[in-house]
Amino acid sequence: AEAGIRPVFDNSYARLPERLFARLPPTPVSAPRLLRLNRALAEELGLDPDWLASEAGVAMLSGNLVPPGAEPIAQAYAGHQFGHFNPSLGDGRAILLGEVVTPDGARRDIQLKGSGPTPFSRRGDGRAAVGPVLREYLISEAMAAFGIPTTRSLAAVATGDFVFREGALPGAVLTRVAASHIRVGTFQYFAARRDHDALRVLLDTAIARHDPAAGEAANPALAFLEGVAARQAELIARWMLVGFIHGVMNTDNCAVSGETIDYGPCAFMEAYHPETVFSSIDQQGRYAYGNQPAIAHWNLARLAECLLPLIDADENAAIEAAQGALSTYAARFGAAWRDGLLRKIGLGPAEDGDEELLQDLLLRMADGKADFTLTFRRLADAADDVAADGVVRALFADPAAYDGWAPGWRLRLAREPAGRGLAMRAVNPLYIPRNHLVEEALAAAVSRDDLGPFEALLAVIQRPFEEQPGRERYAQPARPEERVTATFC
Ligand code: AMP
Ligand code: MG
Ligand code: MG
Repeated sequence: AEAGIRPVFDNSYARLPERLFARLPPTPVSAPRLLRLNRALAEELGLDPDWLASEAGVAMLSGNLVPPGAEPIAQAYAGHQFGHFNPSLGDGRAILLGEVVTPDGARRDIQLKGSGPTPFSRRGDGRAAVGPVLREYLISEAMAAFGIPTTRSLAAVATGDFVFREGALPGAVLTRVAASHIRVGTFQYFAARRDHDALRVLLDTAIARHDPAAGEAANPALAFLEGVAARQAELIARWMLVGFIHGVMNTDNCAVSGETIDYGPCAFMEAYHPETVFSSIDQQGRYAYGNQPAIAHWNLARLAECLLPLIDADENAAIEAAQGALSTYAARFGAAWRDGLLRKIGLGPAEDGDEELLQDLLLRMADGKADFTLTFRRLADAADDVAADGVVRALFADPAAYDGWAPGWRLRLAREPAGRGLAMRAVNPLYIPRNHLVEEALAAAVSRDDLGPFEALLAVIQRPFEEQPGRERYAQPARPEERVTATFC
């Protein structure tokens, strides 16, 4: 007899026309072993954490057991990778086990990543290594703790098999939970094949899952495009406000749900500079921190191209309407970014001069190589206590740069209610998953099978706004010798 309750699946995507996916089970692994189970997330999903941790549960999470009701598929998609179109990508190392409906009525994909080869694997092995799996787990859970829309990580399971990259690495499977895995690239796959019937089905599916109101609009395709644009504007602003650099904003990594998806060589910026890049595969800096808003807009234009035949049979009319929908993006992003920054420095609704105040701060931070996270966090202390100015100024290479900005800020702050520090600390995290801490946690897990540093870091970043005594080290930027300059996927 096995403990607990198995998940109940309801697989709407697997009921769609067969050309949207390939049906196949995950490929079994040698010796599954649970590295980490997200019990809180399991509860939210209405899944039984004790069953998931049981032998049968771990068998499911590793791909060794396809439970009754699951209908495993690999989804078809295309995508622009670093600007170059590839008409056939698809789930090359992931299997959508099925969908669950949470107690709140939300539909969530349960996907195994690293689950073996599929018809979309091309030359890949279909597998994932422990390091990148734990990396996605950490960063996605950090994003969730910030309140930023993201796919979630339900579990990480070691496979007992090696994967071969530069050398032999221990393998793992991540269980990813998403509002859906429909990407801009999913639309591109069918648009490239001029398969308007499939595009229509996909649009209806995406609307049902993410935008029911768009289904009632006069022009559902157009309303959907505007909805995706609004969600991307909000999402990218949220990334920018915590210094997150996705690293691979290809159109196949852009989810129409508005969730952050696909954590590869992503990183959090330490010293502020718009040109910051970590990804070792981003030689041109296409996906640099400061380029992200423009890249999301570019990705939305690719989605718009796919939707044209569904927007209007008359192509010119469709183009004009799509341009109108896309034009909302810049204003939405601009407002979300500006309002978010204003909140970070303790200010309410924008007044004349506020934009200049923000620009001036960012310029001084860039010049002074100020730590992005700590500058805003320490400003929260300084807001209520001028004596705390010293801590902020010390974050700038030339502390006088802060002195040149602070008086103007204080004048403006005087027009806000007193005690702004509290509200500022609620939007300015003290802890981010700093790259050197992430690397340290992954290295211990991979080389010594020691998950202690991973668990310790995870515990800290799950409460990023709350000062945690004894955890001072986690708030500190890397020392020069600890600094991580490149991330790999
Ligand atoms: P990504 O760079 O993770 O967004 O992946 C881009 C494409 O490459 C997707 O179609 C993936 O499924 C595929 N892919 C990445 N890694 C592998 C792998 N190890 N085996 C098979 N396909 C892969
Ligand atoms: Mg098929
Ligand atoms: Mg991807």
